[in-house]
Amino acid sequence: RPNDVKTFLRRNAFVILTVAAVIIGIILGFALRPYRMSYREVKYFSFPGELLMRMLQMLVLPLLVSSLITGMAALDSRASGKMGVRAVVYYTTTTVIAVFIGIVMVLIIHPGSGSRDEFSTKQTIEQVSPADAFLDLIRNMFPPNLVQACTQQFKTQYGRRVVTVRVEVNGSGNMSERSYEESVPVLGTVNGINALGLVVFSMGFGLIIGSMKEQGQPLRDFFDCLNEAIMRLVAIIMWYAPVGILFLIAGKIVEMEDLGAMGGQLGMYTITVIAGLLIHAILVLPTLYFLVTRKNPFLFIGGLLQALVTALGTSSSSATLPITFKCLEENNGVDKRVTRFVLPVGATINMDGTALYEALAAIFIAQVNNMELNFGQILTISITATAASIGAAGIPQAGLVTMVIVLTSVGLPTDDITLIIAVDWFLDRLRTTTNVLGDSIGAGIVEHLSRAELAAADAELGNCVVEE
Ligand code: ASP
Repeated sequence: RPNDVKTFLRRNAFVILTVAAVIIGIILGFALRPYRMSYREVKYFSFPGELLMRMLQMLVLPLLVSSLITGMAALDSRASGKMGVRAVVYYTTTTVIAVFIGIVMVLIIHPGSGSRDEFSTKQTIEQVSPADAFLDLIRNMFPPNLVQACTQQFKTQYGRRVVTVRVEVNGSGNMSERSYEESVPVLGTVNGINALGLVVFSMGFGLIIGSMKEQGQPLRDFFDCLNEAIMRLVAIIMWYAPVGILFLIAGKIVEMEDLGAMGGQLGMYTITVIAGLLIHAILVLPTLYFLVTRKNPFLFIGGLLQALVTALGTSSSSATLPITFKCLEENNGVDKRVTRFVLPVGATINMDGTALYEALAAIFIAQVNNMELNFGQILTISITATAASIGAAGIPQAGLVTMVIVLTSVGLPTDDITLIIAVDWFLDRLRTTTNVLGDSIGAGIVEHLSRAELAAADAELGNCVVEE
């Protein structure tokens, strides 16, 4: 029946176009590889993809701020408090499970066995204390300058470098070694927004506006309208997304290094990460969703397809955020009061894929160095991997940077991050997709658990709600 086909095509146009874009992108990428394009040619070629990234990133700041403020202002503080607790419990549970899966997988598969002669063994002297790293995380929550928070993360200063100098003792000709510690910025400033700081500010601000009754109405209207306008922009950009994704993927395949290096340890490592992420994304998260809501998780995931593919294409959960909103609200019908509140926070702090990957990668590096880790060290890795995933910005390869914290917490050489750089661009895409899935399923679960509060808020507004 042509009408049915037409309706189907129209309804699923985005998903069909996006999936087609991925397939064409992969084919095109591999077809062009033999031509060995120069760096500049690759840049020109991927330009449409770069534009998509920029368009999406452009929306993140106003979207994040306006959705959080309106989300918080729409509910009374008790309701948002309860929702917040549910979200935090969900984030913590899933992150802990993810870290656990990562650790179990790397211990069982043991991808780091064998000789590591193809790698350099340079050791580093930089040390990051986990305590300082935690303080830094908290520091980022309170940006001293909001305008600056819109352009970069707070400069981190927690690195310690031990400098050893040889000095002559009192002109005697005898040399003696003296060491001193100096502070070095390990992460430096991260360009892009300090999402964590803006999340904290917007939540507080929204809560206050919500409690201001009539007086707060102009601000509520303002941010509501801003949010709506941004979402309309998102709707337009979504039409361009398949084109951008096609070129992002094709461009990356064209420029990636030869897969020859994938043999041996690195290949096993890649397989281990993929297997861990798959278990988390296809088994754990859907099961959790089903257990809580008793609804079909795969139907829910089906509605998210475009967001997931965008995550795969952009390697950035922040850049994907606008699309995640659209998919959850329009395809899956998740209440806006929940998405506005839960999604921006999730995209900023809830990164299951990153946590799994950080723990797994750190233990892999230990294996490559023939270092036996005891239980305490593995526990330290799991705690710091969780912190590192919270601290990682939702931008490409942010997880690789925060790995420094995990490695130094157990005395592993940070230079060995270079061992996994070759495959990180690929694994980053997969963990970003897992991150976005985790946030979205979280929104579904929190909505389900918050039905009572949402209905009460509706009743207060005099709205008529039809419960399923
Ligand atoms: N790229 C990831 C994200 O945006 C973060 C990471 O590097 O793990 O979610």
